Amino acid sequence: MHEVSIMAEAVRMAVESAQAAGAGRITGLRLRVGALSGAVPDAMRFAWDVVSRDTIAAGARLEIEPVPAAGWCATCRAEFACADFFNECPRCHNVSGELRRGRELDIASVEMN
Ligand SMILES: [Zn+2]
Repeated sequence: MHEVSIMAEAVRMAVESAQAAGAGRITGLRLRVGALSGAVPDAMRFAWDVVSRDTIAAGARLEIEPVPAAGWCATCRAEFACADFFNECPRCHNVSGELRRGRELDIASVEMN
């Protein structure tokens, strides 16, 4: 399961930033997850519980901020909502493979004390 390695990396990065800040405990983690990132939020929550166990992030609250996918039409010079990597612009019907948002898989914030 791909989400386990994603969350293991998220724990590693969160622990590193907590240590750099001199914090002893991670109480919350907020992730930005794009609709086309390939990561499944439910699987990420499950993986979080497993990989954070026995770390300073154990029991921390996980918040997942979904990022809807948006394509870019160079003809209309406009963004449009989409559900895949290649999409037809709803205005001019040209097919665009340019994605503006939706691939995010980032740590938005780490709460610690
Ligand atoms: Zn267009």
